[in-house]
Amino acid sequence: MKLDLTHLAGDARFASGVMRCVRCSICVAGCPSYALFRTEGDSPRGRVQLMRAAMEGRIQVDDRFEQHMDQCLGCRACEDVCPSAVPFGHLIDRARAELTVTPHRAAAKRRIRRALERLVASPRALVWAGRALRLVQALRLDRLARNLLGRLSPATARRIDLMPRVQGRPFDVSSAASDPAPTAYFHAGCIMAATLGDVQRATVSALRAGGWSLAIPHGQICCGALHQHAGLTDEARNLARRNVAELARHGRLPVCTNSAGCSLFMKEYGALLADDPEWAEPAAELAGRIRDLSQMALPEAPRPIEEVAPRAKISVAVQEACHHWNVQRVRGSALELLRGRGDMEVSALPRGIGCCGSAGLWSALEPDSAWRVLERSLDQIEATGCEMVVTSNPGCLLLLRAGLRARGSSVEVRHLAEVLFMPPRGAW
Ligand code: SF4
Ligand code: SF4
Repeated sequence: MKLDLTHLAGDARFASGVMRCVRCSICVAGCPSYALFRTEGDSPRGRVQLMRAAMEGRIQVDDRFEQHMDQCLGCRACEDVCPSAVPFGHLIDRARAELTVTPHRAAAKRRIRRALERLVASPRALVWAGRALRLVQALRLDRLARNLLGRLSPATARRIDLMPRVQGRPFDVSSAASDPAPTAYFHAGCIMAATLGDVQRATVSALRAGGWSLAIPHGQICCGALHQHAGLTDEARNLARRNVAELARHGRLPVCTNSAGCSLFMKEYGALLADDPEWAEPAAELAGRIRDLSQMALPEAPRPIEEVAPRAKISVAVQEACHHWNVQRVRGSALELLRGRGDMEVSALPRGIGCCGSAGLWSALEPDSAWRVLERSLDQIEATGCEMVVTSNPGCLLLLRAGLRARGSSVEVRHLAEVLFMPPRGAW
């Protein structure tokens, strides 16, 4: 099926964005998909030129075009260094939204789309999915499936290897208690609430220990980033509207997230809803209140780390997620927090080519490519000789854990919240 994208010339933001590219190639060297595939169409410059050519009707929008768009990890390193301010994140999301109707890779896309629509946007369904996955993993049924299905399909085996391992019971926002007279909101997310419940509880504990009174609105929902990056723009906008309403119920307080991907996307709610007369202003207002956990005022050393690892002066490498490093420029704050403690040797993990391979749904859609990107990150981690990696993004955390587990490595991967506040086992 051929698709005509010439109507995009009438979309001022898209058209001016692609026209801004002067082909200087500054973005190319830092692009993880170019480093992996080594073709111009898999570089940011190449993708922008493909989008422009499609908009001008000079090329056909075929399977190859779509593949180049799909193989972008969405890390936005290109946008961060671009001297012409090409809004790459908006362009790739816009192109993908157009491509949702094509039959190319249709089966995988339909499955992902169904999962997004029915699961990720439903907190109750996610809680149940988290419980079910926890049971499956406790009974080691995932290992059984891997052994059986892996013989038939290496890609399926890789997907099972890269599946998130559930940590604790899900964090259920519908029963989470808010404090009286709150001074901040906590946004718990979707996949994180379902699969990393212990991390969410550690985050709440760290914030309260830091003197914050928390509002945890029961009606909050997935930020919509996964939908937007999969081309489901209408769904992303609906989720954004719901969060804008919920995260204003107790006034205009700071909103803490502990996921780099969520915080970047929520900071862009203003642009997402700019053409909606009812929601544009409140969305832009909420965007200005989003804070990463590392940017909330917290006690320097709320708790020693002995439950995480029972040795003093553990060597810790801090991984800065792409969605913090690029565009948001949340850099160094987690490092500073941990350097304030006396029980760690803290260093920054070299950024290398940037992305670890997680990239939202990319590792599920492109498991073999994700694994190749991941391998480089694992080599970097092992070269530092660290005993623990600390990250602030759930996708990175789950993928790095899966990769190190598959290698038989003893290096732990922890979320910043766990290191800041890890109550004794069984206290939650
Ligand atoms: S850095 Fe910006 S202007 Fe230069 S090639 Fe890349 S996208 Fe185009
Ligand atoms: S978002 Fe990342 S992977 Fe995609 S083109 Fe830009 S640098 Fe490359």
